[in-house]
Amino acid sequence: MTVIQPAASHFINGAYVEDTRGTPMPVLYPATGETIATLHAATPQLIEKAIESAKAAQPAWAALSGTERGRILRRAADIFRARNHELSVLETYDTGKPLQETLVADATSGADALEYFGSLSSSLTGEYIPLGGDWVYTIREALGLCVGIGAWNYPTQIACWKAAPALACGNAMIFKPSEVTPLCALKVAEILSEAGLPDGIFQVLQGAGEVGAPLVTDPRVDKVSLTGSVPTGKKVYAAAAAQMKHVTMELGGKSPMVVFEDANIDDAVGGAILGNFYSTGQVCSNGTRVYVHASIRDVFLKRLKERLGAVVMGDPQDEAVNFGPMVSAAQRDITLSYIAKGQAEGATLFHGGKAVDGKGFFIEPTVFTDVTDEMTIAREEIFGPVMCVLTFEEEAEVIARANASDYGLAAGVFTADLTRAHRVVGALEAGTCFINTYNLAPVEVPFGGVKSSGVGRENSKAAIEHYSQLKSVYVAMGPVDAPF
Ligand code: NAD
Repeated sequence: MTVIQPAASHFINGAYVEDTRGTPMPVLYPATGETIATLHAATPQLIEKAIESAKAAQPAWAALSGTERGRILRRAADIFRARNHELSVLETYDTGKPLQETLVADATSGADALEYFGSLSSSLTGEYIPLGGDWVYTIREALGLCVGIGAWNYPTQIACWKAAPALACGNAMIFKPSEVTPLCALKVAEILSEAGLPDGIFQVLQGAGEVGAPLVTDPRVDKVSLTGSVPTGKKVYAAAAAQMKHVTMELGGKSPMVVFEDANIDDAVGGAILGNFYSTGQVCSNGTRVYVHASIRDVFLKRLKERLGAVVMGDPQDEAVNFGPMVSAAQRDITLSYIAKGQAEGATLFHGGKAVDGKGFFIEPTVFTDVTDEMTIAREEIFGPVMCVLTFEEEAEVIARANASDYGLAAGVFTADLTRAHRVVGALEAGTCFINTYNLAPVEVPFGGVKSSGVGRENSKAAIEHYSQLKSVYVAMGPVDAPF
């Protein structure tokens, strides 16, 4: 049996810290269901210690020059890259995602974020605003203490996407990973510390909602950035709003992917595979409503079926495996219940649909056809490997149907007609649109949702606006002109 026990559950003020009075948190390897580590949720004493450490350390961190802060982040990025294999193996134990994926998508994208924001931090400035004689200058200031709360699908990437811009702007961050995947964020903290980050600037506290909630409501916390589901987002947003805190909400989706009759079929099928089955379908921006023009439905499905024949399920630590288990028994069971609903509501099970016997939380990649917009599987986020194929006839019709969702995270369009592609993405209600590809999220590009899918943007220069605030300083150059 593999054991991946970290030095301790939490990383506080520059060191691993344990308090076994906290609720035990067994960590299961999703491919076998075996317990590979046991951590403990943070006690109120540890939460207090982390907040105090952050508050004590943050002013000096903010007072460094951007170049000095950036140097540390970029050094951390280099360590991430040097240790990519080891970090990828850990990510695979934590999440069950195939090593084939984690080697190229997790520590590497975390490193990209650290490098990008580490490079940006030296050029974060205010501006000079001339007003005739008087003038104004603005100062870009840190917010103070930010709390990051993560989902379980990309534990390293989520920690880095939040920490890198927060730290670049001079904030401290306390990060609470998902209780399902608590291991990777500890490595992020350890590596940042090794790179020279002062103690207390990036800390990790473990636990479920009962550790997240008091962090969100603590008056010493200035900002909350959550990656999670819409129901959790509504709770956390409301709690933060009561104290007028800044928020970033990266929430769920039910994104449409539209395949027009002139699309390159192999690219469209490839996009649908990426947008439904990568990470075993556990990706927020997945294009799970695949609208295929009725005239190419059969050829699309034929090619999809052929390519699904190349799925290799098995131990995700084996680099030949390209489809891993779901993260937990609970998530597998939620997915299976949606598959049952799809069948009960009259969709055709075209491929897969079953849990795989034996150890671990495996489920087959699943495709439904004859799906209609009203069906539960076409409306609700499943967060598992379930693709819904729907058909359409007209451009205006498919735009209206694609937009008829409370969600608005992403959308994709496949067509050879670039004029149409731009016209359609212009009309789609989504934070990120893809033309002739799907689910690429480089750090240079703003990422986030509209409607219920979220508030704010991660990555790119846009993230700076969400981790800093402007102070305007009005400078009078003449006498004060008062009415009396
Ligand atoms: P979740 O909402 O159950 O949990 C998210 C995090 O919130 C966890 O760390 C959890 O412990 C914490 N939490 C729960 N209740 C809380 C409370 N009251 N106060 C503070 N924290 C609380 O989500 P999940 O199941 O971990 O992740 C799956 C969801 O995340 C999906 O909906 C998916 O679409 C979404 N997601 C979104 C993005 C994005 O960038 N938009 C990325 C990945 C995942």
